[in-house]
Amino acid sequence: MAVLASLKTFKGGHYFGLFEGTPRGVRLKAAPLPKRVLIPLRQGFSAEVAPTVKEGDRVKTGQVIGRTEPDPHKPSTPVHASISGRVVKIEKRPHPLGGEATTVIIESDGTDEWQLLERPANYEKLPPEELGKILYEAGVTCGGQAGFPTVYHSAPATPEKIRYLIINAVETEPFCEATDQLLYEEFEKFVQGIKILRAALGNVQVHIGLAYNKPRIYEELIERFEYYDWCTIHQLRPKYPQGDDAVLVRTLLGLLLPQRGYATDVGCVVQDVQQCVAAYEAVVEGKPFVERVVSVAGSAVKEPGNYRVRVGTPVGDLLEKNLRCNGRIVIGSVLRGSAVGDLEIPIVKETPAIIVLREAEPELLPVAGPGFDRDSFTGVYVSLPWVRYKRATTSLNGNPRPCVKCGYCVDVCPQNLVPALLGEYSANGLLSEAQALDLFACIECGLCAYVCPSKIPLLEQIREGKRKILSS
Ligand code: SF4
Ligand code: SF4
Repeated sequence: MAVLASLKTFKGGHYFGLFEGTPRGVRLKAAPLPKRVLIPLRQGFSAEVAPTVKEGDRVKTGQVIGRTEPDPHKPSTPVHASISGRVVKIEKRPHPLGGEATTVIIESDGTDEWQLLERPANYEKLPPEELGKILYEAGVTCGGQAGFPTVYHSAPATPEKIRYLIINAVETEPFCEATDQLLYEEFEKFVQGIKILRAALGNVQVHIGLAYNKPRIYEELIERFEYYDWCTIHQLRPKYPQGDDAVLVRTLLGLLLPQRGYATDVGCVVQDVQQCVAAYEAVVEGKPFVERVVSVAGSAVKEPGNYRVRVGTPVGDLLEKNLRCNGRIVIGSVLRGSAVGDLEIPIVKETPAIIVLREAEPELLPVAGPGFDRDSFTGVYVSLPWVRYKRATTSLNGNPRPCVKCGYCVDVCPQNLVPALLGEYSANGLLSEAQALDLFACIECGLCAYVCPSKIPLLEQIREGKRKILSS
């Protein structure tokens, strides 16, 4: 095993302070079993699959409710029921990641009767195809930004194209604490999950990216992987967006992802802590991937917490009686996610957090607020020693104003872009000029919009520019 002594990082990025309502160090709790789940048949990277159940059918937890024959042009992974009960409706509904998807709605019978997968007698001896089959059948292969490759076409790449398995154990998103907590509480499953994922890829090299502020996990990883020459542990600075595939692969291996490409294009598969734990539970315990960890956080939340939540649970169930005031609900990420008004929007396998931000209060010094200390999102002006938490509200501190050419957006951009120009060109229809400045190299981390003192919605403008080019 190689351990790289020097801390690795990348140019740009941002360290967030601790925001009010962050469930740091809060132990994982099981969320109550939902009375009703809404499970979209489009998950992660996958194409939408066809329902295999009909209205009125009884289903068990873990039973397949949607799948499509493997197709190299439409990568997909089967979808499972996350509770036992009756299918009451199959209809098009809004998907939390955008657009609409066919959704299977199941009402619980309260028994949580499981249908487990067949468990191999000795998984360590299974060939890669067999392990891949279990991961595919368990729904684990839809995870990551480009899925996990198997011979069942669960990702755009095929397994023989993969040379490196990258483990993302560096969580840098504000409020998203649940996966860190999972790392501490399910360390053994995490370690075994890494070995399973590696074996399913034909014993490739493994690179683990771990935040340097986790010395206990670091020591334990060294102990567990000491005798394996296929594993390298990298200590990373926990700077946002270190966990993004493009940034992580570049930091660890020096490989550049092509624009509009995936990690698999350069022979890498990136999987996070949740994926590793799900791989272990599928292969060793026979459990399909029907539950994930989610942080419920934000300045409007009474008791921030980290929960094990069934996929398909409506957001409203997790917030019931847990709000101290009105707030804006954001799914997944305060920087990249979008606000939702519909409390029926479900948790999916890609939802690390539900964040509720207080509505903004009038500010005494509105002119001093924006952009102070490059943290224009927060209402805290000065970092006072007795103020432990910053407060994130929905405050936009007024309407967008003209660019003041401060260059903050350029300083933080992890992709070395000029966000001010990308935003301006996109907003004004100068799309070929935006493309000439590598518009599609933008990974949509949202940092430029976060630090902009003029509150220019740079991320929105850039996304719109990309959309226009792709649809033209
Ligand atoms: S231009 Fe894209 S990659 Fe750069 S900071 Fe803005 S959102 Fe992030
Ligand atoms: S867009 Fe915003 S952050 Fe970028 S230079 Fe202009 S004012 Fe500064």
